[in-house]
Amino acid sequence: MISVDRAIDLVLAQVRPLEAERVPLLRVRGRVLARPVAAPRDQPPWDNTGLDGFAVRAEDVAGASPGTPVLLDVVDTAAAGTVSRAVVGRGQAVRIMTGAPMPRGADSVVMVERTRGGPQATRIEVLDAVQAGNAVRRRGEDLREGEVVLEEGTLLRAGEVGIAAAVGLPHLEVHRRPVVGVLSTGDELVEPGGELPEGSIFSSNSYSLMAMIEEAGGEPLYLGIGRDEPLDLERRLRAGMEVADAVVTSGGVSAGDFDYVTDVFRRMGGDMHFHKVAMRPGKPVAFGTLAGRPLFGLPGNPVSCMVGFALYVRPALLAMQGRRDPHLPSVSAELDHAVRGKRGMRVFLRGILREEEGGARVRTTGPQGSGILRSMALANALIVVPEEVDELPEGAAVRALRLDSFPEGARAHGHLGGIGEVAP
Ligand code: AMP
Ligand code: MG
Repeated sequence: MISVDRAIDLVLAQVRPLEAERVPLLRVRGRVLARPVAAPRDQPPWDNTGLDGFAVRAEDVAGASPGTPVLLDVVDTAAAGTVSRAVVGRGQAVRIMTGAPMPRGADSVVMVERTRGGPQATRIEVLDAVQAGNAVRRRGEDLREGEVVLEEGTLLRAGEVGIAAAVGLPHLEVHRRPVVGVLSTGDELVEPGGELPEGSIFSSNSYSLMAMIEEAGGEPLYLGIGRDEPLDLERRLRAGMEVADAVVTSGGVSAGDFDYVTDVFRRMGGDMHFHKVAMRPGKPVAFGTLAGRPLFGLPGNPVSCMVGFALYVRPALLAMQGRRDPHLPSVSAELDHAVRGKRGMRVFLRGILREEEGGARVRTTGPQGSGILRSMALANALIVVPEEVDELPEGAAVRALRLDSFPEGARAHGHLGGIGEVAP
């Protein structure tokens, strides 16, 4: 049996970023750049004013003060989006609005609040001297033509999307999202919505897994419920492995009489890299590859299944999308109460993590059985009880793995139709 850390390493050693695709800006949020982006032009594209006011020559207003204002002739008005043809000469000014290009001749801007004269005036009084360059935003001061403004591997958030748009790029090359097959196995399982025959349960794992795949930026492909029967499992696994970039199964990986998932996978020619991990819940978790595509065999118990996904599948899906930080983010927190562990196993308790003035604190969600789905629904973190201890006292410092960071990479859901046009 291998350790959790070793298992995560084995998984990450087998996955590579998927190929690049060209995606319109509206859909790139949460994706990862597959190539660096160089600015095709300067931003700002020309010198412009950062204030509403008057474009002037600093030397003309050098002596201005409220007691000794300087009179200037207003020779033109420049709104944002227009280019003034005026050339500002001695004793002249151009009325100018934020974002308008600087007219020739002027080297600085006096804010309108430091002038007297009013909106229509043809002559104004300037009440303050300004330094040359005052309130002028220089061409290229933000982004320079030819400069790499977004590195390959960058996670695209709102700021990065804005940069791409600012330099005029309507699409970006990003890593493709993985299509992830989901196969639940078990003769007791039925789809939610129908009758529940005696002895059966609804397949919750199918749906929690597909939701987690979406949260991790993947595209779920449902392969249905497989019977505890090798031929049915093989048929469904084959179908999944053919079209999906990865397949996740639930159930049928422990030591029971009807646990066929790993046998079937081996028979299909897959390599198993591990089959048990020293962790609780979720010890029977399997990982293999077939033609370079990962198969994750997660246990059927609903909590074990979700914990296994968070620890092994999520990092793999993020790495396939080009993420360089695929691990669950971890924080140090203080325990509200004593907890039990199990020597030799890494125990993951479902926890509620919160920030307090003295630092982060964490408590469990209550009953921790591997069938208690409510514990996952309430949790925003997994409390790690290390292999070396059987218990931890109240107040002990623990590592907590954040589960609430999922939405960062989450799939962009369809945008509602707008009233304007967008970049193609
Ligand atoms: P297994 O790993 O197949 O031995 O299943 C362990 C437990 O998880 C059993 O109680 C199963 O009924 C339950 N289980 C298996 N698959 C699912 C599923 N898709 N949804 C909910 N519970 C499941
Ligand atoms: Mg089963």
